[in-house]
Amino acid sequence: MSRVLIIYTGGTIGMVPTGGGYAPKNGYLEDVLNSTPELRADGMPDWELIEFDELLDSSNVSVKNWVQIARVIQRSYGAYDGFVVLHGTDTMAYTASALSFMLGGLGKPVILTGSQIPIGQLRSDARDNLISSIIIAGQGRCCEVCLYFGGRLLRGCRATKVSSDELAAFDSPNYPPLASADIDIRYNDKLIRPAFGPLKLAEFPENLPIAVLKVFPGIQFSLFEGIMTEQLSGLVLEAFGVGNLPQQDDQLLHAVRKAAANGTIIVVCTQCLRGSVRLGAYETSSALRHAGAVSGYDMTVEAAVAKLYYLFGLGLPAEEIRRLMENDLRGELTKFKTDN
Ligand code: ASP
Repeated sequence: MSRVLIIYTGGTIGMVPTGGGYAPKNGYLEDVLNSTPELRADGMPDWELIEFDELLDSSNVSVKNWVQIARVIQRSYGAYDGFVVLHGTDTMAYTASALSFMLGGLGKPVILTGSQIPIGQLRSDARDNLISSIIIAGQGRCCEVCLYFGGRLLRGCRATKVSSDELAAFDSPNYPPLASADIDIRYNDKLIRPAFGPLKLAEFPENLPIAVLKVFPGIQFSLFEGIMTEQLSGLVLEAFGVGNLPQQDDQLLHAVRKAAANGTIIVVCTQCLRGSVRLGAYETSSALRHAGAVSGYDMTVEAAVAKLYYLFGLGLPAEEIRRLMENDLRGELTKFKTDN
């Protein structure tokens, strides 16, 4: 029988109502799981649960918690066939992206899941999310960091939260699901990255000075000059469409040129849910490329942020970080072929 370790970090799944709204409570989820006979039914892997001392609403998850989760997986790697990380939905896609980069050489499934309705409430989605995730983790057919939610197994570094209130809260807009859990769990084997090893944990810097800037019509770039200094290591620019920016007075281009000269890595992602950045397709984006920005292609902002942490954590020179930002490392991006 395969063995699965459940790492409970917090999130709605194990929350209880309090005077101030839903909040996690230590010991509660474990009690509920222990009194749920299906979780020990035939066909279920053997599982154990460990719980964070401080259970978190995922809005409070930070880099140190990503490191904490990765270290638990590293420490217990030999003793289990797969891992389930129970996590709040709000920042689950960030954590899934971060773990994808942190856990190099992964050869076992790491499945993040949670729920939109707490496990103790009527109509909770926790039961299926949890049971299917444990089964998928135990099957060992997809040795990637994944996010399971609402019947679909998504690549972690491709996932994004798309709904605050639907049970199908996540999507993977630029990459098909790796598996779907209908009557049977059906894997899309062709889409799954091969397992390789040995596991090697990458450290992330806790206080990396990076930023995400979403442009909008009428944006006054001069307001942001104060943060685009040599102290800024990386900037993810959420541009329009295929990577376009407003050209008013060349203010932004000036700031981008200055930032690039200072060594800041500027990554252009799109505000669109689907599709890729194509720097150079329009005049409004060619200039960005020439000013020193790199293309995030079809990466989610979550993946771009996690990748900056990863590459800076490796201590690489700026030129190498720029190059690797545009290359696929964990299945997080597809290069747009005719990019110029
Ligand atoms: N605020 C919660 C969290 O992210 C939401 C959830 O889990 O669904 O922890």
